[in-house]
Amino acid sequence: KRPVPSDIDISRSCVPKCIDRLAREIGLLSNEVELYGKTKAKVHLEAIDRLRIQPDGKYVVVTGITPTPLGEGKSTTTIGLVQALGAHLNNNVFACVRQPSQGPTFGIKGGAAGGGYSQVIPMEEFNLHLTGDIHAITAANNLVAAAIDARIFHEATQSDKALFNRLVPLSGGHRTFSPVQINRLKKLGIEKSDPSTLTEEEITRFARLDIDPESITWQRVLDTNDRFLRKITIGQSPTEKGYTRTAQFDITVASEIMAVLALTSSLEDMKHRLAKMVVATSRNGEPVTTEDLGVCGALTVLMRDAIKPNLMQTLEVAPLVEKPSAGTFSWDVAIGGNPVFVHAGPFANIAHGNSSILADKIALKLVGPEGFVVTEAGFGADIGMEKFFNIKCRYSGLRPHVVVLVATVRALKMHGGGPSVTAGMPLPKEYTEENLELVEKGFCNLRKQVENTKHFGVPVVVAVNAFKTDTEAELQLICKLAKEAGAFDAVQCTHWADGGAGAVELGKAVQKAAEAPSNFRFLYDTELPVVDKIRIIAQKIYGADEIELLPEAQHKVHLYTKQGFGNLPICMAKTHLSLSHDAEKKGAPTGFVLPVRDIRASVGAGFLYPLVGTMPTIPGLPTRPCFYDIDLEPETGEVIGLF
Ligand code: ADP
Repeated sequence: KRPVPSDIDISRSCVPKCIDRLAREIGLLSNEVELYGKTKAKVHLEAIDRLRIQPDGKYVVVTGITPTPLGEGKSTTTIGLVQALGAHLNNNVFACVRQPSQGPTFGIKGGAAGGGYSQVIPMEEFNLHLTGDIHAITAANNLVAAAIDARIFHEATQSDKALFNRLVPLSGGHRTFSPVQINRLKKLGIEKSDPSTLTEEEITRFARLDIDPESITWQRVLDTNDRFLRKITIGQSPTEKGYTRTAQFDITVASEIMAVLALTSSLEDMKHRLAKMVVATSRNGEPVTTEDLGVCGALTVLMRDAIKPNLMQTLEVAPLVEKPSAGTFSWDVAIGGNPVFVHAGPFANIAHGNSSILADKIALKLVGPEGFVVTEAGFGADIGMEKFFNIKCRYSGLRPHVVVLVATVRALKMHGGGPSVTAGMPLPKEYTEENLELVEKGFCNLRKQVENTKHFGVPVVVAVNAFKTDTEAELQLICKLAKEAGAFDAVQCTHWADGGAGAVELGKAVQKAAEAPSNFRFLYDTELPVVDKIRIIAQKIYGADEIELLPEAQHKVHLYTKQGFGNLPICMAKTHLSLSHDAEKKGAPTGFVLPVRDIRASVGAGFLYPLVGTMPTIPGLPTRPCFYDIDLEPETGEVIGLF
């Protein structure tokens, strides 16, 4: 078999279509497309309105078994499946994937453009700044953080009257409230529009948010795996007059603003969600929002371009053709060309980990009723897929036709007791030689994840992503066991090595499953008490016996229920490396108690966010990070070393 070149070499060997040509081919109008160079474009939301009466296409979600730290090929399968359903099986198709975070790109895992001959191209554009959405989120998030601490400082160092006079300054001899201040007055029940008529008591109530610094749940963010920001002290300069406090950074993609972007349905809705975000509690127990801080309008301005999905493309539209060498390789991947939306949402462990509802909605209209939209839910089915159904589908109203569950021989061997797998290190021999016993022992993880998909009533096709060291007997064993465990179908695929041609069987299985009856249901009713919802996820999806709420989490359940947020769905922050909270517990652990350390409320995004175990919300760099390999070729100006 021919060797597969590096991801970046394959990406570069392919000539992408001009993105405006692709946009026209898939039925977008020129005024709906905003070009960012030749290979990326933003798509305006008016397209949804224009296509309102067009019926939606078939909706497929790709998820996986509990992965090794290397990833098991969900993104690669999403792209390979779209390539197969497109050119090889002649359907209108769209892939909807998440924008990668630069944390993993420079850290352990590398990029997320897929891999081998199933990729989004150009992969360096995809993996680095794209069109700046994550940077916009960082800016918006940190503006809120700055607003909180500055407000506490100003309130602490000024009288009520001085504070009020600065908040509502004189202009042309008059004081006037800004629109956001009028909203705050309404919230306080003060029906006045002339600042000079406020009583002293009203001035105090209006001017003082009276934030309890201990209650601040809003963190600063950065899109870098900077572990030394996990706990910091801020305000140490003498100019802050001793107002120091302990704070922390999260990775940008875990920001509530990223979740708002992923879950919003329109510009108006995003504005509303950005105003509702709760950042802290006042000393008398009231939630303090971004609207109270007066920052919500500025957030919408910072996010106004980010809300538009980013159009890119996959490799190959045509089946691979052998052709004489033009460059490094003896064959080549024709030209690029299936449409891809890259928008929002990585990190299904500490965020909800799904791409945007808006991208899925536009794509479903563009492919038409016979077409396919393949979207991806992060990490294993216990987290990304559970959140896809219980959070994303609840807000979008969309109902998927098929779940594709990606499994690999290497991950099953790890679950069966194989030695641990470390990024950048050679795989131990258990993984490179046939070992049916380990595969069979580790199958318990795949069985449990198949069961997990069945809770939602959607047919599941298992895609066994083949690596070159896997043997036919190992691959066949997984397919056989998966079908016995109740999968609609289970097929091997080789799209990483062969492009779309390697996922044709998978494509056919997905087409069939999309015709099968689907009986979609949510796992829990949001009206249930918070603790019950967490327990249902822990017991039914993770296999826990019970949950244990530590004191901080108990306090938050009480607080959020009292503040009226108890009916939100749940977004668990849990390790992706085990079905349990303990990354070392492989397979399908049972008999454990799931510890919930704390709970945050993402009221604007629309979920409660329990923190399970000691899950850090910003990853760290390993001893040998991916950035060791990344460089710029001085002669050509090309990026090297990304994967
Ligand atoms: P996930 O989305 O599940 O995290 P990815 O699709 O990003 O996984 O794949 C993880 C890494 O494994 C990527 O570098 C990808 O190129 C590589 N990979 C995926 N499938 C295969 C395969 N069949 N053979 C070799 N490498 C693969």
